[in-house]
Amino acid sequence: MKSADVGSLKTLLSSPQNIVIIPHKNPDGDAIGAALGLNFYLSSTGHSTTVITPNDYPQFLKWMPGTQEVINFEKENTTAVKKIEEATVIFTVDFNELGRIGHMKETVSKAKAAFVMVDHHQSPADYAAIMYSDVNLSSTCEMIFHMIVALGGLELITSEMADCLYAGIVTDTGSFKYASTTGKTHRVVATLIDKGAHSAEIHKNIFDTNTASRLHLLGCALNNMVILPEYNTAYITLSQEELDLHQFKKGDTEGFVNYGLTLAGIIFAVIFIENKEEGIIKISFRSEGSFSVNEFARKYFEGGGHTNAAGGKSNKNMEDTVHYFRSLLEDHKTALSA
Ligand code: 5GP
Ligand code: MN
Repeated sequence: MKSADVGSLKTLLSSPQNIVIIPHKNPDGDAIGAALGLNFYLSSTGHSTTVITPNDYPQFLKWMPGTQEVINFEKENTTAVKKIEEATVIFTVDFNELGRIGHMKETVSKAKAAFVMVDHHQSPADYAAIMYSDVNLSSTCEMIFHMIVALGGLELITSEMADCLYAGIVTDTGSFKYASTTGKTHRVVATLIDKGAHSAEIHKNIFDTNTASRLHLLGCALNNMVILPEYNTAYITLSQEELDLHQFKKGDTEGFVNYGLTLAGIIFAVIFIENKEEGIIKISFRSEGSFSVNEFARKYFEGGGHTNAAGGKSNKNMEDTVHYFRSLLEDHKTALSA
């Protein structure tokens, strides 16, 4: 974190504030972990704090300490709007443009609070007074750790905070296996374990807790996989009907997209998931090497993210979305052959 920003943040937090912390829509382990970890830190330093999520998050993240206090903007709208209007400081974590919070954007963009962004995605928008943005860090949780240390709070890290931050780091590094995992990441994680993070339980909660219906849905997804060797690409589709047939619950498709990349030669993997309620196809993109799925998602699917992991959406139906996607590949053949 730049020392000028540390100074501004220290000044901003030098007297008790009304703080709202917001992760992105459909929050993952990094977004929720960062919001809850930061929430514990700020409330322990004398501020009044609330975490507000744009919508619900998966059951497999609800073991996290502090989860009971989280306000869901969709379900507790009146309370959430009041909190946002009364906030003096708003932290936005794990996203960098207000479009990522869905319907909550309208209320949040009218807020009078000072905005602080903590995020590791590319191309940050310009809405925050204090911007801690670093695309080289593994996760927003790793950034929250560095921020707390910069504010002089290392000694204040409790086992609850450590659990939250650890959960975010393992989520975004895929259990420390993605290229974003550095020696520094491991040193942060070592400190979090020393502070009391329950590492084995967290791994089990996040990666190794299944339901039979989710495993059957995975079977269906893998069965639907289409491999395009000429583009080193593999994609999966899941229709609303298939999701319903397997009692789909939020979070059930987490990680499915990665299977494509385990195939020899495949460097671009995609999953298309129909959401009839929102009238969209939600898309996840993953790549290996220099092919930027961030740019691809941004250019064609109203999305974005990181070089090797990004998301987007389509307003077309599944058939037309897949047809459109396939029509784009020829233009990227050289990059996909690299
Ligand atoms: P996932 O595919 O797991 O939902 O997301 C992969 C990465 O892309 C995450 O870092 C996530 O925050 C980002 N991402 C997912 N969907 C979108 C989107 O619609 N817009 C943008 N800008 N980023 C997204
Ligand atoms: Mn993240």
